[in-house]
Amino acid sequence: MIEKRQFYINGAWVDPAQPRDMDVIDPATEEVCAVISIGDQADTDAAVAAAKAAFPAWAATPLEERIALIRKLGEVYTARRDDMAEAMRAEMGAPIDLARGGQWGSGTWHIDGFLDALEGFEFERPYKDVDRIRLEPIGVCGMITPWNWPMNQVFLKAIPAMAVGCTMVLKPSEIAPLSSVLFAEMVDEAGFPAGVFNMVNGDGVGVGSQLSAHPDVDMISFTGSTRAGTAISKAAADTLKRVSLELGGKGANVVFADADEKAVKRGVIHCMNNTGQSCNAPTRMLVERSRYDEAVEQAKAAAEATQVGPTTESGRHIGPVVSELQYNKIQGLIEIGIKEGATLLAGGLGRPEGVNKGYYVRPTVFADVTPDMTIYREEIFGPVLAMTPFDTEDQAIEMANDTVYGLTNYIQTEDPEKRLRMARAVRSGMVETNGIGRQLGSPFGGYGQSGNGREGGVWGIEEFCEIKAISGCPWE
Ligand code: NAD
Repeated sequence: MIEKRQFYINGAWVDPAQPRDMDVIDPATEEVCAVISIGDQADTDAAVAAAKAAFPAWAATPLEERIALIRKLGEVYTARRDDMAEAMRAEMGAPIDLARGGQWGSGTWHIDGFLDALEGFEFERPYKDVDRIRLEPIGVCGMITPWNWPMNQVFLKAIPAMAVGCTMVLKPSEIAPLSSVLFAEMVDEAGFPAGVFNMVNGDGVGVGSQLSAHPDVDMISFTGSTRAGTAISKAAADTLKRVSLELGGKGANVVFADADEKAVKRGVIHCMNNTGQSCNAPTRMLVERSRYDEAVEQAKAAAEATQVGPTTESGRHIGPVVSELQYNKIQGLIEIGIKEGATLLAGGLGRPEGVNKGYYVRPTVFADVTPDMTIYREEIFGPVLAMTPFDTEDQAIEMANDTVYGLTNYIQTEDPEKRLRMARAVRSGMVETNGIGRQLGSPFGGYGQSGNGREGGVWGIEEFCEIKAISGCPWE
């Protein structure tokens, strides 16, 4: 049994002020795989105080030195790839190849992206040849992260914050804390000065709220549910700190009749990836009516071909969902989909055949889903796709935008003009077309209830900066 009860505060591993154990459950076995502690106000205060004390010296440290430490962290992260993959496999149920691949790889990818964006990044720039505009680190940052892409989220926050000279307190998801404990060990091994990075485990109502309301925290960078984003915004309001939010999504994947042959299959695979637990998953497939019947058959076949399997085994299968709570929530939404009259094409209620343990869900596709149905509107966060036909381009735009969310929409058409027209018309922070992923350092974030932040690249660096305008100190 792994025991990780301590917190990383001011460059040292310390015991919690008030020990309170919490089990970490392996979703593949439903068994306890580790024990952590849940922090309290005293732990939060100690971590914030350490970050506050470390801030002036870290902010004054030359950029090259901060970058050298980030590079070192990247080396340690690479050397301990297997440990990190195993932690994510056990805590959130990523099959081992996904854990070693995309889940682990997101970390090095983001380091590369930020280092690239820092090349030539001007922290001080002229304005009208007279004023000076300076970008300065905002200060002490509270970082609150979810369980679904654990290291992806930590790297998107911690690396730019470290780079610009902020200090920080990370509170990872209490459901998947093991990877962040390892990350803290790696920060320590890389040799960052004490207090620059601190980590306290805890739940949302405890350490999460304490960080959000803390008068000495200058910014909260949050990724998670829209519900928690609202709670954090309210808790942060009294101190008027900056709150950067990356929240849920209900992305539309608009498949026109002239889309390439593989568009539907690709959309299903994308939706099922990470067992459907991605905020940017294309969960509503809108298909032009003349292609709809064919698309329904293709989606059914793709869902049935999606293998579900043990997290310890290699292969391209998907794993369980993260917890009993999520399992039950997803089952409830599948049941509602059936009751509200959607056509169940593949999957459905219960575990996959032959599986009687673990939070495994059947890869599920519903057809004939109408915009008033719950499964069209709610983020399910499981391997469940909703398919709906449309008749015209205008209707496709209206349907894609008929959501409170606005994270990523997807457009599939061979017509370049229609592609761009559609990309301009949909209301979302990201639009991916024809299965082409966005470039390294391209900003990640949403419109509406998907949040207000932008992570990655130049935008993700600016997110952690204050802007200072100076007169009378001319540019030379
Ligand atoms: P969650 O909101 O339940 O938890 C996320 C984090 O917030 C956890 O660390 C949790 O302890 C903390 N938290 C919960 N309530 C809080 C409160 N009142 N105050 C402060 N902190 C609080 O989300 P989750 O279930 O871990 O993750 C799934 C959600 O995250 C989905 O909605 C998904 O779409 C979203 N997500 C968004 C992005 C993005 O970039 N937009 C990326 C990944 C996940």
